[in-house]
Amino acid sequence: MATVTGKLTVVGLGPGNAGQLTPEALAAVDAADAVFGYGPYLDRIPARTGQSRTPSDNRQELQRAAQALESAAAGANVAVVSGGDPGVFAMAAAVCEAIDKGPAAWRDLDVTVLPGVSAMLAVAARVGAPLGHDFCAISLSDNLKPWPVIEKRLEAAAGAGFVIAFYNPVSRARPWQLDRAFETLRKHLPASTPVIFGRAVGRVDERMAIVTLNGATAAQADMATCIIVGSSETRVIPRANKSSLVYTPRSMPDVTA
Ligand code: SAH
Repeated sequence: MATVTGKLTVVGLGPGNAGQLTPEALAAVDAADAVFGYGPYLDRIPARTGQSRTPSDNRQELQRAAQALESAAAGANVAVVSGGDPGVFAMAAAVCEAIDKGPAAWRDLDVTVLPGVSAMLAVAARVGAPLGHDFCAISLSDNLKPWPVIEKRLEAAAGAGFVIAFYNPVSRARPWQLDRAFETLRKHLPASTPVIFGRAVGRVDERMAIVTLNGATAAQADMATCIIVGSSETRVIPRANKSSLVYTPRSMPDVTA
């Protein structure tokens, strides 16, 4: 059997700001013979002569992963790019799924995953430190898991006192889920709980908003928004001449006693 010589690197490009793209991610993309990814992500990185680029649609993750693995198995140095961190609701898992189900030769490839700044970290940093205590991340997309599972997780997370970051909060095909999620959370959290909407963070069309759980609606979000819902411990520091700071203190009293 022929030896597999190619390699595949899954690269996180960060939220969209060139300053938040790590030097190792940039170097890996530059070194690649072939780059695969969602079109708008490919547009973010400088093209190099002699490098091939294969843009694909947002939803074709598994197909894109298989195509990239095939190219690496044929001997190329391949980069697969993701926005944010590639391991957070993104291409690193799709590549692993493809290897898990794919031809044995793909298991001999050198596979490297390079981390990036995930959306929730970029959103949190904009407003202060809402993720300063325990938190979790939930994708609100019910394309890959049933909605009842999402509701159960929301209830468990809010009930356990986690701050929650929502990825994939709405899309044209999923118009009602986010409002339903807020309704569910209102049963477990005070109406005054801070909710942060961070849209296109790090890009020119960035928009940030801090509201309360009572005032949070799906109309405030789109596909490029990451939402952070505080816990009952999360606090807002109003400032007369600056935007408010939102943070979750590092410590809390023993509520189990
Ligand atoms: N791997 C990515 C997440 C992919 S899922 C990461 O780690 O960030 C896609 C979701 O990420 C979007 O629906 C949105 O919720 C969030 N997202 C991605 N980029 C964002 C940005 N610049 N600002 C706010 N949210 C973003």
